[in-house]
Amino acid sequence: MAACAVFLAVAVAGGVVTALPATAAAPTVNATAKTAATTKIPTTVNPLPSVDAIGDPANFSVLVNKSRPLNPASYAPSDLVNARGSGQYMRAEAAAWLNGLFQGAADAGTGGLSIVSGYRSYATQSQVYWGYVNAYGQAYADTISARPGYSEHQTGLAMDIGNAAGSCGLSTCFGDTVAGKWVAANAHKYGFIVRYPNGYTGTTGYSYEPWHLRYVGVALATDMNRRGFPTMEHYFAGNTAAGASIKSGADLVAADSSGRLLRYPATAAGGYAGAVQIGSGWTGLKQAFVVDWDIDGVYDLLAQWNNGVLGVYRGLPGGGFANQVVVGNGGWERMTITVGKWTHAHGRPGVVGYFPDGVLRYYPNTFGGALSAPQIIGKGWNGMELTIADWEGDGANDILARTGSGALINYRGDGWAGFYGPATTVGTGWQYMRVLAPSFGLTGAGTRGITAQTADGNLYNYGLGRSQWTTYRQVGSGWNGLKLFK
Ligand SMILES: [Zn+2]
Repeated sequence: MAACAVFLAVAVAGGVVTALPATAAAPTVNATAKTAATTKIPTTVNPLPSVDAIGDPANFSVLVNKSRPLNPASYAPSDLVNARGSGQYMRAEAAAWLNGLFQGAADAGTGGLSIVSGYRSYATQSQVYWGYVNAYGQAYADTISARPGYSEHQTGLAMDIGNAAGSCGLSTCFGDTVAGKWVAANAHKYGFIVRYPNGYTGTTGYSYEPWHLRYVGVALATDMNRRGFPTMEHYFAGNTAAGASIKSGADLVAADSSGRLLRYPATAAGGYAGAVQIGSGWTGLKQAFVVDWDIDGVYDLLAQWNNGVLGVYRGLPGGGFANQVVVGNGGWERMTITVGKWTHAHGRPGVVGYFPDGVLRYYPNTFGGALSAPQIIGKGWNGMELTIADWEGDGANDILARTGSGALINYRGDGWAGFYGPATTVGTGWQYMRVLAPSFGLTGAGTRGITAQTADGNLYNYGLGRSQWTTYRQVGSGWNGLKLFK
């Protein structure tokens, strides 16, 4: 078991550490080439579903916005129910979770929520929209109302809500109420998102609407929250921004022994396409990570070089990567690290790791650039292989640590950079796994898993449910000569 790993309880607050990898300028390592060429390297097997933005209007994860109308435009769901007896309708599953959300808000002492407006048919939306056009003109109407065939309310998955007192119905002041703040912080636990958050009109096309909830399912909502994506457009951007070099969290990225940077795309055709070269000069890696460092919706690369530099290569929407930005300089080759969102206080993914001293430190990525000073979050972690993942599916990332004897231990994160509850063994026999890489969206939007590379070069993917493994299958072979990015 993990008796060797000990946590510092609370005393870490402000406990700054020894001189450790600091930030620096002056990149000193290889930049990536921006040319792409197809290469044949290790084969992959087994089909994988598409992770493209979802267009089926009956799918709970469907993406509907001003450039993606419902298809067909006249779509009407078949399982609408009267939500909470309000006379407003929603699809049955969404309505059931809405009950949970309302109960949760009441239990939290917010004063409760009220229902304002749910399902609207194509015909009804047409009346609403043209009413606004007549009143305000089309330009303004388009910022506050969807055109018929373009409304989330037509999916049966959207519900406008207000505070129970009703004083902020369809008003931005709802976001300032106790109930509105609770909804913004907790809706994902019930499968809902605040679809049009403040400050993202340029992305969503809509003004801030703290009252407009969209049901997307718990898996997708918690995944968006965990990874810090503010909108569905951000979440699917890696797929719709077809030019980006890394298109989704389901893709595999690796460097071969000659330093070629390779992407293995998960395709709609039901497998990985052949490797595509997306860079060169990637020799000298200790480890590398696929991560959206600046949460702009395009995947970036974090490189941990053998020369001690930790650098980020920002993915460009049109393809390729910007030159390296050094986010940590000196000593990083001696660290064992993992990368991910480690506290709700910071939306961007940070770094958790230890030197040979076994002291576990969290380095916040506060600005999407250089790392901030670390805080100590544990000790006795020597010899552990680390992977950040959300084992419970509760929206707070955990650390899965593999011991030298092959036990896989879940150290449950409390969502605030600390740990919660006892560590539990969630796997054994993992000593044959060399690399444990988180994967996202491999078996559908919002799904999560761990892809692990065995010593003999096979790849296996383990699906993650709530405190359990869901699937297990081989997804590749012949990876011996490759450095699989985590
Ligand atoms: Zn609405």
